[in-house]
Amino acid sequence: MLLFTPGPTPVKEEVRLEMAKPTIHHRTPEFEAIFKSARENLKELMKMDEVIFLASSGTGAMEASILNLCHKKALVVNAGKFGERFGKIVKAFNLELVELKYEWDSPANIEDIKRALREHSDIDAVALQICESSGGLRHPIEEIAKVVKEHNKNIVVIADGITAVGVEEIDIENIDALITGSQKALMLPPGLAMIGLSSLAVEKIGEGRGFYFNLKSELKKQQQNTTAYTPATTLIIGLNKVFEEIEKFGGFERLYSTTKARHKAMLKALEALHLKIYPKAPALAMATIIDSDSEKIRKILKSEFSVNVAGGQEHLKGKIFRVNNMGLIEDYEMLWVIDSIEKALDKLGRANYKGVGVKVFNEVFRESNDI
Ligand SMILES: *Cc1c(COP(=O)(O)O)cnc(C)c1O
Repeated sequence: MLLFTPGPTPVKEEVRLEMAKPTIHHRTPEFEAIFKSARENLKELMKMDEVIFLASSGTGAMEASILNLCHKKALVVNAGKFGERFGKIVKAFNLELVELKYEWDSPANIEDIKRALREHSDIDAVALQICESSGGLRHPIEEIAKVVKEHNKNIVVIADGITAVGVEEIDIENIDALITGSQKALMLPPGLAMIGLSSLAVEKIGEGRGFYFNLKSELKKQQQNTTAYTPATTLIIGLNKVFEEIEKFGGFERLYSTTKARHKAMLKALEALHLKIYPKAPALAMATIIDSDSEKIRKILKSEFSVNVAGGQEHLKGKIFRVNNMGLIEDYEMLWVIDSIEKALDKLGRANYKGVGVKVFNEVFRESNDI
């Protein structure tokens, strides 16, 4: 079965084998050396002043960022499940919440951000997704973060980059907390969350808050290449292997350009099959198609072509399907996915199979990826 959901993504064989080695103890020089490389690798990827690993799913890093960096009132962009989740976390800590809500296909509007900042002078954190995975939507985070900093440079910008880190080069100039998780573009099993921090964020953490997610105590330990509590050792070992695999591929720059070229080719191929792309600003992490036959298409893909793609949630359940574009994807895998979608449309009596999808995909991918 080809796992083509926008998280979890497949774990490469080399990485699985590395993680199959006997467990080592975390309070040892051996693991400290592994942890040190993981920290260096992550710093290089995120380009942030500091990085922290947490043994949790991505949501743990969202919670830790709000808990340690917002002390009064948060402005949150909600254009899907994950934006909504930031709001729920803010409320869970009894912090004040200003929420900007959008339909799941619509990116946040800069004027709305400016207005909210003017109306609420006590906002001390702004939290949003770079890519809102619910609809495959890309928010204009660069512009938003800039506007926030122009308004007040002490407001922290918390960016959920769980489906953006490792997908594209992120402009971190105005970002204070950059969040990611293991099971998306980093192609690992779930369970490892990561946060990149700016020097302002490190300062704002102060004594830290909470216990397990206290970033002060965690950072202090991690700067000495250890952790406050038992780390996700196996996943950290796997992460170093993932970095090696990406290096073998040609490094992150090559991964970013390939991801971008493949995304363009996917969208063109899907459009050539008369399918409609859902978000007004599509993120590179996936292709999201709005179609009343979404569930039928997914079912055929899975049962007849061994391709597993994701559906929609809540009001988009049954109305969209989402195809992954994160990580090291073999060309032949994506070709098979596109071809299977065309065959599924044929089976549904909506088109006669002509191999148009793979033809368009190949043309666009080859010319944009200069193979
Ligand atoms: C997957 C994802 C998360 C985190 O989900 P977990 O299930 O907690 O790992 C958060 N934000 C975005 C944008 C995601 O895609």
